[in-house]
Amino acid sequence: MTSSSLPWVRYPTGSDGNGQDLEGVQGLYSYQDLQLLEKNTHEAFTPQKRRMVTRAVIVGGGLIGVELAEMLMTRDIDVTFLVREDRFWGNVLPKEEGELVARHMRDHGVDLRFNTELDEIIPDKNGRAGAVRTKDGEEIECQLVGLTAGVRPNIDWLRDMPIETDKGILINEYLETSQEGVYAIGDCAQFRTPPPGRRPVEQVWYTGRMMGETVAQTLTGERTAYAPGHWFNSAKFFDIEYQTYGKVDAELSNHEADFYWEYDNGQIGLKIVFAKDTHTLIGVNSFGMRLRHEVFDKWLTDERSVEYVLEHLADANFDAEFYQRHEKAIVNQFNAAFGANIRPKRKSWKRILAAKPFAK
Ligand SMILES: Cc1cc2nc3c(=O)[nH]c(=O)nc-3n(C[C@H](O)[C@H](O)[C@H](O)COP(=O)(O)OP(=O)(O)OC[C@H]3O[C@@H](n4cnc5c(N)ncnc54)[C@H](O)[C@@H]3O)c2cc1C
Repeated sequence: MTSSSLPWVRYPTGSDGNGQDLEGVQGLYSYQDLQLLEKNTHEAFTPQKRRMVTRAVIVGGGLIGVELAEMLMTRDIDVTFLVREDRFWGNVLPKEEGELVARHMRDHGVDLRFNTELDEIIPDKNGRAGAVRTKDGEEIECQLVGLTAGVRPNIDWLRDMPIETDKGILINEYLETSQEGVYAIGDCAQFRTPPPGRRPVEQVWYTGRMMGETVAQTLTGERTAYAPGHWFNSAKFFDIEYQTYGKVDAELSNHEADFYWEYDNGQIGLKIVFAKDTHTLIGVNSFGMRLRHEVFDKWLTDERSVEYVLEHLADANFDAEFYQRHEKAIVNQFNAAFGANIRPKRKSWKRILAAKPFAK
């Protein structure tokens, strides 16, 4: 079974709700949502070419909201973005990275509001979305409302079936559900015991693909446990590329320490999380700087120290030619902050190729 996710905020509600069932209110989860967005924004124009949709309000501070903001802004629609938390993508990004992304979104003209919660969507005189009211009582005029407050496993359809569920369909390491011969993979699946360093529910495309490959092995005769390795992910916030390898949580745990460097332009940043006592690498976040997956994956597996990582950082960087390199500045800041004496090594293709899984 692979039955995807559903948006947390459900729409239309079919009830009077809080305006979520009004025309002009939508999410961005399916192809049909994209078609609706096309329709909603095309109807932004009257026959006299007067623009009807000039402002949209997006609710929910995460990746899908940013994608929606970018799409709307390509159509010259102004965007107000309501985020309940005090920073952007606050359940995933640490403070500095959240601030970097928020600054960039504001530079692009997004009216980003933190600590702001949707209370009600108010209809216009034609019964379409006409404004939102926040919990603080502010009314923001708009003609489109995007609800992008996250997703949950789509499992309502099997509630009456004899398959054990919790948030998602419960599975073991072989992706087996409580019913023999029935497997669950992708967004709808929840591990009873997640693989080391991983979460019970992971709703990203590559885990769905890996689970598919794993269950295919089992179905073709070789019972195989799911072994996704170290966590990784990537995304883009307007012009800034983001990559993460290993574990970087929004808040550090007691045994973790971190190092953060940011370039003067405020659009390039690097966070390294490491063990407080041994200095072993735990995870990395990079913004506006491309880092090789294979290299960081090997460093995580080899339990390299943060000092080793910084010394060999040039091996990981794969920014395009003529991009400014920052290894020296990064290492200088680390040396100053931690009283270290690291000297960055030059990039070595021998080491880089040794990190690739196919270069045995
Ligand atoms: C806007 C958006 C952007 C995203 N961007 C990224 C990204 O950049 N990187 C990333 O890693 N992930 C991203 N994701 C998440 C990624 O798309 C999902 O994790 C992935 O598609 C999940 O795969 P899946 O096979 O579990 O579900 P899906 O790809 O949703 O496939 C499930 C299929 O099952 C069908 N289905 C559902 N219920 C039933 C039923 N009862 N009977 C029959 N069929 C049914 C659905 O119609 C669907 O076709 C994004 C998601 C969204 C919505």
